[in-house]
Amino acid sequence: MNRADVVIAGGGVVGCAIAFALASEGHAVALLERDAIGAHASRVAAGMLTPLAGERDELPLGLESLALFPAWVAELTEQSGIDPGLVLSGVLRVAHGEAAAEPLRARAARHAAHGLEWLDAAAARAREPGLAPELSGALWSPREGHVGAQRLTAACARAAAVRGARIEERTAVTELRREGARVVGVRTPRGDWSAGWVVLATGPWAGAEAGALGLPWAPPVEPLRGQIVALRPARPALAAIAWDEAVYLVPRPDGRVLAGATEERVGFDCRTTEAGVRGLVAAASALVPALAGAALAGAEAGLRPASPDGLPCIGRAPGLDGLLLAVGHHRHGILLSPLTARLVTDRVAGRPLPAAARAFAPARFAASGGRVC
Ligand SMILES: Cc1cc2nc3c(=O)[nH]c(=O)nc-3n(C[C@H](O)[C@H](O)[C@H](O)COP(=O)(O)OP(=O)(O)OC[C@H]3O[C@@H](n4cnc5c(N)ncnc54)[C@H](O)[C@@H]3O)c2cc1C
Repeated sequence: MNRADVVIAGGGVVGCAIAFALASEGHAVALLERDAIGAHASRVAAGMLTPLAGERDELPLGLESLALFPAWVAELTEQSGIDPGLVLSGVLRVAHGEAAAEPLRARAARHAAHGLEWLDAAAARAREPGLAPELSGALWSPREGHVGAQRLTAACARAAAVRGARIEERTAVTELRREGARVVGVRTPRGDWSAGWVVLATGPWAGAEAGALGLPWAPPVEPLRGQIVALRPARPALAAIAWDEAVYLVPRPDGRVLAGATEERVGFDCRTTEAGVRGLVAAASALVPALAGAALAGAEAGLRPASPDGLPCIGRAPGLDGLLLAVGHHRHGILLSPLTARLVTDRVAGRPLPAAARAFAPARFAASGGRVC
């Protein structure tokens, strides 16, 4: 029997960030990943860190997580030798027409203390001259940015290993080992583990796998496919993230511009489609016309771990002791990864959690949203 203080199932950005945090506090950690580290959404994600200018108007604990990034990325880079490429470039949310402009103008007013402001069309184009002229204005958020999602995940895993975590790829957790209502370890085809805590960081598989693993309750987490393309313009096409009603564009330091993303309920199918890629390229060129001449540098699809309210489930799994969930991060798994790692580490260490973490409590779905296995 293998032993660890904490066994983590799932080696996406969430599981790897948790492994690094726990190992840094001296816990004996084993991270078990069915495929390869960062093989799924955490490889494909655009890596935007946008708690204010993103889809939601202020993501709970999103600003706190964003604030962790500079020191966290510096520490990860030093420990792992992998630089995830953090860029606090700012975000321009472009509006076409009054119906799109009005809520963004209101958002700028609400979050003026964080530097958000409304720019008219001329001011927006002065900031990003590559934008197509047909725009009504833009919300400018100067302190948000992006990071390389794949490199971030790899850096977390490598840094966790440097600090003593065991990382086992090609190792699926097939069942929870239980003593009554207490989870005491896991089973895998490559051997059993005993552990004081088990953390499920299984992303979009959290709902579908719950019954097989032996959970009495399945978190309502489902796959939501997102396709994304990488364009390589001959010259830099923009400096900040540009985002309109049809597409977002993320200018990475390596010269690629990531253009995303579709939203498709197609189960666990993570193939790209001709229509998806074509739609993203057309929307990117409409927002920044110079991108029409860019080379297509790649197209990928990933499965977001979608939850009904768009927020993750982080904390104790209803009905079981010794089991923590860290799943359902939806569109924000990259942004929320350091904060999630902190919440799980605090929970394992018995430290109090911030009141705002209640928004992520798995039990909020237990009465209505979850499925009884
Ligand atoms: C196109 C696209 C763009 C995105 N853009 C952004 C963005 O800009 N900003 C942002 O913050 N987020 C973004 N996201 C969302 C982000 O990618 C996810 O929220 C995040 O990657 C989820 O990480 P995870 O570790 O929970 O899941 P995953 O990366 O899916 O990792 C889960 C892992 O668990 C493993 N696993 C499953 N079951 C088992 C088992 N039984 N045993 C062992 N291992 C198991 C899987 O193999 C997988 O590797 C985007 C997503 C997509 C698809």
